Amino acid sequence: MNVRGLAALIKNAPLTPYSFTRRELLPNDVAIDIKYAGICHSDIHQVREEWGGARFPMVPGHEIAGVVSAIGSSVSKFAVGDLIGVGVFIDSCRDCSSCNQGLEQYCEKGMTPTYNGVERDGVTPTMGGYCDGYVINENYAVKIPAGLDLAAVAPLLCAGITLYSPLKHWKAGPGKKVAVMGLGGLGHMGVKFAHALGAEVTVLSHSPSKEADARQLGADHFVVTSDPAQIKLNKRKFDLILNTVSAEHDINDYLSLLTTDGTLVVIGLPGVPFAVNADSLLSGRRSMAGSMIGGISELQEMLNFCGEKNIVSEIELISADYVNTAYERTVKSDVRFRFVIDIATL
Ligand code: NAP
Ligand code: ZN
Ligand code: ZN
Repeated sequence: MNVRGLAALIKNAPLTPYSFTRRELLPNDVAIDIKYAGICHSDIHQVREEWGGARFPMVPGHEIAGVVSAIGSSVSKFAVGDLIGVGVFIDSCRDCSSCNQGLEQYCEKGMTPTYNGVERDGVTPTMGGYCDGYVINENYAVKIPAGLDLAAVAPLLCAGITLYSPLKHWKAGPGKKVAVMGLGGLGHMGVKFAHALGAEVTVLSHSPSKEADARQLGADHFVVTSDPAQIKLNKRKFDLILNTVSAEHDINDYLSLLTTDGTLVVIGLPGVPFAVNADSLLSGRRSMAGSMIGGISELQEMLNFCGEKNIVSEIELISADYVNTAYERTVKSDVRFRFVIDIATL
């Protein structure tokens, strides 16, 4: 299959038009006519090689929404014309204890990332969703409910599931005080989901200008983290803090906001280690945990939940030639709240 897309040819290079080929359909594969691709901050980290080990040329994109354009001979889950989504991984070993529990994101042999990785054949580089087509095994794609704005669904495939999964795992709901650190692409989905699940929601933000939006998204409270007085007022308050901050920060300031037995979940990946003071944890039997996206069945559960509750992302739909500007603006926390590329403009 011939594909047209956008790639960074070397580390830090601006994204430019790039053509490549994908495999012909295997019996369990589906081909996707990609309509929209979200811009996740992880795309930027990888293009800029902030996590190391990046592979170029790189076609980023793991928030993919489209339509099934062809199916392999043994496909049973999808038909041509179905709405289909692809998230952060496209395969896993299918055999380890994580895979067997539906936690493919934690595959013990490593999940196969949608881009900037290698297929399980050990040689074929994976290329992401900033392009007009994808080929994927049907079991690693999900169905998108009808009736939602497809462009605004795309970010659910990473930003959505990445916040939904820890909220469910740590049982956010009525009576729970949940805080979301960072009101970006991930954070704003955390606010929407925590609110929909019935929790009391606080946004912890370094951008005072985001307060009105935060409240509109469902936040009950808004804390400006650069104001020591506001931090002090919120000490020992939260049962659960979801940390989506993409840049380096002092984690101890935030651990102090947890109640006894509270948990701070690391989700953002600044690429530098945290310096945790022992006292920040033991003075409240606090936990610091991590969470990464979600498995395929949970991804489908989240999309179904979104279909029932009419939840999508808040997006700025852009044309392909705006993508480099969108990267710059995302790094400055200047996006409401996710950029999505309209693939028709490639
Ligand atoms: P984003 O849209 O850029 O949002 C990040 C937010 O962090 C910003 O909106 C900002 O919120 C806050 N922030 C940025 N710089 C800051 C600074 N210097 N000090 C304090 N706060 C700052 O990014 P995203 O797409 O939501 O991704 C967030 C992070 O999660 C990235 O590191 C990404 O790689 C990672 N990620 C992890 C997973 C996972 O599975 N664990 C999945 C996807 C992405 P305020 O303006 O409100 O302060
Ligand atoms: Zn992502
Ligand atoms: Zn596995």
